[in-house]
Amino acid sequence: MVKCLECEKEFKQITNRHLKFAHNLTTFQYKEKYPDSELFDKKILEFFSERSKKANELRKGVSRSESIKQKIKDTKSKQIIVPWNKGIAQTKETKDKLSQSGILRHRKWHEQNTHPQVGLKLPKETKEKISQSMISYARKNTDELKERAKNKKMKKKQERKPEEKKEKPSKTAEKPLKPAKKPEKPKPLVNEVEGGKE
Ligand SMILES: [Zn+2]
Repeated sequence: MVKCLECEKEFKQITNRHLKFAHNLTTFQYKEKYPDSELFDKKILEFFSERSKKANELRKGVSRSESIKQKIKDTKSKQIIVPWNKGIAQTKETKDKLSQSGILRHRKWHEQNTHPQVGLKLPKETKEKISQSMISYARKNTDELKERAKNKKMKKKQERKPEEKKEKPSKTAEKPLKPAKKPEKPKPLVNEVEGGKE
């Protein structure tokens, strides 16, 4: 249960209706007055979260049809939703909290391998589309890609140099007859596009 801080009554959910009729307050004003207050009972929040999780589970990997997409677009364009916290600047504490929870969430995804996109299989058509668009981009922008590859190589060389200098003296002393490294083959175009899109 959650307590209304105006009248101390307990509810499963503090509704806009209750606030308006009992205290002549909007949710916005209530939240402004009691920033740490809750509007829902914890069990209800859990229920909502479980329910949406289940609903999402069913829809995972299923794309919406065009007609449904259009319907959603239409309804959304008609709605004017003003969130209760509109115009309130977030305190530094809130911002830190949010960013910290985001970092933790991502870390958890990576550690447990539960990132929402893990196991997501793209349909063959989509894969084909992506590879086609990359190829056509590569054909249109050969100069840019060549430049990019050049810069990448230069960077790698610069990173490698200091290490080689340290190792060389001992190596050449032990194995003087080792043949020089073969020059690296230039990578195929498509791979360069993938690298560049990171
Ligand atoms: Zn009340």
